Amino acid sequence: MIPLPKFRYVEPTTLAEAAAILAAEGEDCQILGGGTDLVPSMRQGIFAPKTVLSLQAIDGLGRLEWSESDGLSIGAGVTLRRLETDATLRKLFPMLAQAVSEVASPSIRHMATLGGNLCLDTRCYYYNQSEDWKACSDLCLKVGGEFCKASPGGKAKKCFAVFSADVVPALIALKAQVTLVAKEGERTLDLAAFYSGDGARPNALKPGEILTGVVVPADRVGIKGSYLKYRIRQTIDYPIAGVALALRFGASGVVSEARLVLGGVASKPVLVKGIAELLEGQTLDRARIERAAQLARKAAIPQANTAGQRAHRKQMIHEFTTRAFEDLAREAR
Ligand SMILES: Cc1cc2nc3c(=O)[nH]c(=O)nc-3n(C[C@H](O)[C@H](O)[C@H](O)COP(=O)(O)OP(=O)(O)OC[C@H]3O[C@@H](n4cnc5c(N)ncnc54)[C@H](O)[C@@H]3O)c2cc1C
Repeated sequence: MIPLPKFRYVEPTTLAEAAAILAAEGEDCQILGGGTDLVPSMRQGIFAPKTVLSLQAIDGLGRLEWSESDGLSIGAGVTLRRLETDATLRKLFPMLAQAVSEVASPSIRHMATLGGNLCLDTRCYYYNQSEDWKACSDLCLKVGGEFCKASPGGKAKKCFAVFSADVVPALIALKAQVTLVAKEGERTLDLAAFYSGDGARPNALKPGEILTGVVVPADRVGIKGSYLKYRIRQTIDYPIAGVALALRFGASGVVSEARLVLGGVASKPVLVKGIAELLEGQTLDRARIERAAQLARKAAIPQANTAGQRAHRKQMIHEFTTRAFEDLAREAR
């Protein structure tokens, strides 16, 4: 096994203490949630923080609370296993439990936290490699090279590493909001706005900021949802195409709300444009489902930086969008 590099380990017990350490150490310090991505990435040489700051001893980050006025509040430190098995969450937001259960494996989900999933780094064939592997050719943009090797023609000055966290598309489909805390204070934003689309800096976290939790608004109860994940192996594997669909049905099967989010096919989760305009106020029929699947396929822009061919991944988005609509239409009937 590749040994871990040397680092200082700190375990603050309050958020204020954690924020102060992060402010003092800047980018030399990296946050540890469950460590299921950070630790293997450090072994691989992808991250080399001088200090690792664990959130595990901080009170409050393990909260999982439901209230009819404030919605579902989930602390960043809640493990995926707890989310997957929580009876209230499963009853109120089954799509979320479904998406969580698709991450990695049960043993990884026992350790992995929601915060770590939301802040997961983007992945790429040219980036998630050992130092020795990378040293054998020009470096990619994300590690200081000139161009993104995965970009069309390999000449783009923008990083195209792929967004691969399974839980995020479902949370965006449910209009979740995220809270970030730093020494200077706190800010809340729509989870959809948290992601930048730049594979090199995939989210809006500023140096010194900690993601402390998410809220799924109370009015999302009653939404029907489906998360479908395409991966090469039907076992531990990242998504190479994922579809999260949230629909609300009104009287006589008319769609009153529709939101479709894709994962694994761009450098950020993709909120598919035109879905609400196409479907709200309408019943679901074959032609409208096909039109929605075409919109999803067009919005997916996979690059040649992970397993699976680009055209096939786009086709799987089309297939899974169709399947998700058909499943929810059947459920509504
Ligand atoms: C074999 C394997 C298979 C996997 N398969 C999948 C998969 O199918 N789908 C999937 O989504 N993921 C997968 N993962 C990745 C990972 O296990 C999950 O995404 C997990 O949810 C990460 O959570 P964590 O708490 O372990 O994160 P950590 O490893 O602790 O952290 C991940 C990143 O987030 C940052 N971070 C963590 N918490 C915070 C916070 N509160 N505020 C700010 N930054 C923070 C860390 O600094 C780090 O950069 C896989 C990992 C492995 C090893």
